[in-house]
Amino acid sequence: MKQFSLILCVVFHFAFAKHELYDGHGLYQVNVEFVEQTQLLEEIQTRYNLDVWVYAYPGKPGQILVPGHLKEQFQEELAAAGITYSLEVENIKEKLDLEDSLLEVAAARSNRSRSLPGLSFDVIHRYAVVDRYLVDLANTYPNVRVFSAGRSVEGRDIKYITISTTNFQDTRKPVVMLQSLLHAREWVTLPATLYAIEKLVIDVTERDLVNDIDWIILPIANPDGYEHSHTSARFWRKNRARNSFCMGVDLNRNFDIFWGTASSTNPCSDTFHGRRAFSEPESAIVRDILHAHRNRLELYIDIHSFGSMVLYGYGNRQLPPNALAVNYLGVQMAQAIDAVKWPQNRNYIVGNVAMVLYMASGGSSDYAMTTGVPFSYTFELPSYRGITSTVQGFLVEPDFILQAGFETWEAIKVGARFAARNFNRRAGQ
Ligand SMILES: [Zn+2]
Repeated sequence: MKQFSLILCVVFHFAFAKHELYDGHGLYQVNVEFVEQTQLLEEIQTRYNLDVWVYAYPGKPGQILVPGHLKEQFQEELAAAGITYSLEVENIKEKLDLEDSLLEVAAARSNRSRSLPGLSFDVIHRYAVVDRYLVDLANTYPNVRVFSAGRSVEGRDIKYITISTTNFQDTRKPVVMLQSLLHAREWVTLPATLYAIEKLVIDVTERDLVNDIDWIILPIANPDGYEHSHTSARFWRKNRARNSFCMGVDLNRNFDIFWGTASSTNPCSDTFHGRRAFSEPESAIVRDILHAHRNRLELYIDIHSFGSMVLYGYGNRQLPPNALAVNYLGVQMAQAIDAVKWPQNRNYIVGNVAMVLYMASGGSSDYAMTTGVPFSYTFELPSYRGITSTVQGFLVEPDFILQAGFETWEAIKVGARFAARNFNRRAGQ
């Protein structure tokens, strides 16, 4: 018993020591009434380099994570600007500890509850597990191939799989590409690509999707950042590039599309765009995949969280020539999710990223359009608000993991079938 207690203490210590970084961080909800206040708030956010989870606009509250030592100044600045606020979470570390313990309990149960050979959908799998899984799939299923696309800054292999009944040789088929975890902390996006793999390889119930379409699935686009978010800093977003000071580049600001026009020049910022477009191996890898399949890529979905949104380009408010069709399919996909979503989560919003979210340059889904992909989207998966209180955000609850995969798959199916029809129409087949 003594030994058991000791082990428990050690586990407890490791689990709860790792979030020291966030001890005292407060999560604020802020309300702006005028555009001028929005600008003032942006100045405050930039000056203190705060982690903005939700950007505030008149009528739409924002959400900002503020380190303990800056709370007082932050509140004073808000008061001076006439911006009202509430402290939603006094100490975010408590929520991180709770997330850990929920996921640990789920992991302990996990292995006993799985009948299919794939990965389970009650835990968030780490890089090594997913990396191994992709290789195993290719070794087990003849229509799956695994590719090493290159290495991350820290040398991790970035693997993707292709799923094709004709080994990508039949050029009359469209290609659909799915990608997750370009942003490290958006853990709930991994189940979405893993679920798609499950439904296309292991538990196939819709044969047309496998027969008529070639698939590319890249589950962990930013492995260094992802691992860092597990081991050291849960809210890490960027890759792990070594800048002169502060680490990391926001990979979704590093693509060569309006690069540097709506992103940060500050290496310490979460939206730092890097030294130049495609300065980072992780974004260059995505570029190379897009280019290699540009003739047949009909649909590209880059999966992020959070906010329940289907977004399309461009990040500078300019619309693509086929914007009506892009919006139409976006709505179809969003409705497919809404039809099966949990009632606690709101309906999806569909629209141009700059109009519904914020201006952003150098994004991967914008870049995909410039390579000729007609239907290119950024998904923002929901933040499920269950027992970790009413806090929206990046935290994951185990009971939502399967649902996140399942409901996103509903949208992917709609998107893929539409893309296939559109591709065939264009090809005159
Ligand atoms: Zn993201």
